[in-house]
Amino acid sequence: MIPWREWSRGCVELIYPSRCYCCRIGLTRKGQVICADCLSKAHYLQSPLCSCCGREFPDSSGTDHLCGFCLRQPPVYGRARSVVRYEDPVSHLLHRLKYAADTSTLPVLAQVIEPFVHGLAQEFQSAHDRIIPVPLFPARLKKRGLNQSLLLARIFFPKAGDTLLVDAMTRTRDTPPQTTLNGDARRKNLKGAFAVRDPDTVQGRRIFLVDDVYTTGTTVTECGRALFAAGAVDVYVVTVARVAG
Ligand SMILES: [Zn+2]
Ligand SMILES: [Zn+2]
Repeated sequence: MIPWREWSRGCVELIYPSRCYCCRIGLTRKGQVICADCLSKAHYLQSPLCSCCGREFPDSSGTDHLCGFCLRQPPVYGRARSVVRYEDPVSHLLHRLKYAADTSTLPVLAQVIEPFVHGLAQEFQSAHDRIIPVPLFPARLKKRGLNQSLLLARIFFPKAGDTLLVDAMTRTRDTPPQTTLNGDARRKNLKGAFAVRDPDTVQGRRIFLVDDVYTTGTTVTECGRALFAAGAVDVYVVTVARVAG
């Protein structure tokens, strides 16, 4: 017997066949949210990158080296890496996940992240021992229904088990979305906005901090400050996407 929910979903799909989230072309495969053509447009970040903050260099020749920003002012965290540029189709998928709690985007995000995961797993085993997603303010989490960073951390580290510290960090106050601000306002907005609940969980640990998007690095910098203040010895940032620039 076909369960009622599956049967009704099948009827909806028959009447309203799903369309690609980006280009709106009709899709045929069950559970598909984006067409192969749009998916192939994801731009993977490739060397040469800044060896510290992971910034792409405009000149595609040469090897990784420090960018001018990191030379002038070394970031709080040890290193940051992102999988792809923050542009379509991935920006669209992350936006749906974050603001529409659309978890149907997760399998395709996992597909995007997959080529990156193997190297990360090796790096984790050799040098890091705890994974922490960037937290949301509790009221925002309740309203949104999910923390996208936690779901993405589970994709990055599928075998994390109890090394994934779901509640290790907390957001101590609600802040306007960073997207509405820039420069100094971003930094002031988030200053002191994160805390570690129990320093024993991070004391002497090497942390992988997971977020969805790296824009100016303000969020992960503020999280990094809180982690180091609590005794962490290294913070490595990993995000799905990075805003160019
Ligand atoms: Zn498409
Ligand atoms: Zn840099």
